[in-house]
Amino acid sequence: MEQFDVAIVGAGPAGSSAAYYLANAGFQVILLERGKSPGSKNVFGGRIYPYSLEELIPNYMEDAPIERIIKKEGLTFMTEDASLSASFSAPSSDRRFSFTVFRSRFDEWLAQKAVEKGAFLLNEVKVDDVLVEKDRIAGIVAGGDEIRTHLVIAADGAISKIAQKAGLRGSLEPQNFSIGVKEVIELPKGSINDRFQLESNEGASIVYVGYVTRFLRGGGFLYTNRESVSLGIVVKGVDLVERRINVESLMGNFKEHEVIRNLIVDGKLLEYNTHLIPEAGFKMMPRLFTDGLILVGDAAGFIINNGYTFRGVDLAIASGIAAAETFTQLQKDGNTNRSSLSAYLTNLNKRNVIRDLKKFKDGPSFLNNPRLYSEYPKILMDLLKTMYSIDGRGGKRIREGARETMKGKISMTRLVRDLIGGMNAI
Ligand SMILES: Cc1cc2nc3c(=O)[nH]c(=O)nc-3n(C[C@H](O)[C@H](O)[C@H](O)COP(=O)(O)OP(=O)(O)OC[C@H]3O[C@@H](n4cnc5c(N)ncnc54)[C@H](O)[C@@H]3O)c2cc1C
Repeated sequence: MEQFDVAIVGAGPAGSSAAYYLANAGFQVILLERGKSPGSKNVFGGRIYPYSLEELIPNYMEDAPIERIIKKEGLTFMTEDASLSASFSAPSSDRRFSFTVFRSRFDEWLAQKAVEKGAFLLNEVKVDDVLVEKDRIAGIVAGGDEIRTHLVIAADGAISKIAQKAGLRGSLEPQNFSIGVKEVIELPKGSINDRFQLESNEGASIVYVGYVTRFLRGGGFLYTNRESVSLGIVVKGVDLVERRINVESLMGNFKEHEVIRNLIVDGKLLEYNTHLIPEAGFKMMPRLFTDGLILVGDAAGFIINNGYTFRGVDLAIASGIAAAETFTQLQKDGNTNRSSLSAYLTNLNKRNVIRDLKKFKDGPSFLNNPRLYSEYPKILMDLLKTMYSIDGRGGKRIREGARETMKGKISMTRLVRDLIGGMNAI
């Protein structure tokens, strides 16, 4: 077996970014992917914030497989028979833009970029274990073969077995995970532009709260692609088990609701996927490195979901760059022991990865509040029904309507506390 400086487990955005950076710096890198090709097993909602990709590949816009650039952001609260939608739209020149992609194309593109720089990509190889020698990680074991390297970068995603084998994390707690389900529904480009009031390759992103999860903790999402929409639901796994509801039936209800039905009418189902999402953020972050090994991306728990934005891929790429940068710095003294690898923290901080995770550290516990998904959408819809009902029995000012709809459901003190809590957490 050829000699490699670094072995990277997993060719998702985190692994391929690290591979690209290291190969570009002249190191021998092996990138191992269990799927048929990078991205073949990967699921996500659909949107990437590209600041970290831009740091890695400044001219990425020339050939990255971008679907649409998001112009419209939407938020819809819904009950079974009512909905309230807010929409925000601004030109991409006025804010840092984001875009939609398909992971099968994006991950393949990024991995090939690393290969062009000299990384060695091995598909359909599952890494089974880490190689431990003299109390340090000295490489990996895959299909009975041992590969010795100076550093292993574990980029194997949310349920990282490598993090566990390296002793950086214990077993996973189900309450820290949500289940994501996603469908890709094909529609003609013109229908998408008409239905979402978009022009050319502009895109829309909409978040749904309330009935979409039958009032369980979680929400729905819709992203537009060139000729399809990505529609999905993310919901707390423990809530599904407790209420004996399955995600397929949630998805069925969601698609039949009037807020979605007309947006996807005549569409053709192209893809259906489910996936686990680590959601406890900063509070579930494992130890990030040990002698000879660094965790990146989802394997390190780098996800920020604050309800209105969902960040994972940008942090995966930023952490892949930070890990690779750490190795290039350490190679000056040829040492990848734990104390030297602490430079990884500095390199993560340079890119605000840990700082942002810390900033939103209370987000997951705030979003764990069941009232956000049940009482509040219902109260809001009842209030709007009151406001827009004129029946000759005497009108009501908003304050009276609010008092009436909240009565016996939620106290004003509780509402104010939740509001302040939300403003501080997300
Ligand atoms: C439903 C859903 C919606 C989401 N929406 C968004 C979104 O809109 N925007 C966003 O930024 N993020 C989103 N995320 C999060 C995002 O997908 C992740 O944060 C991101 O994919 C993390 O990248 P990664 O490279 O760390 O891990 P992954 O993308 O999970 O890649 C890990 C790779 O490792 C491979 N692998 C695993 N084990 C082994 C092994 N033993 N040997 C070899 N290979 C292995 C896998 O096949 C995979 O290719 C979403 C996630 C889900 C589930």
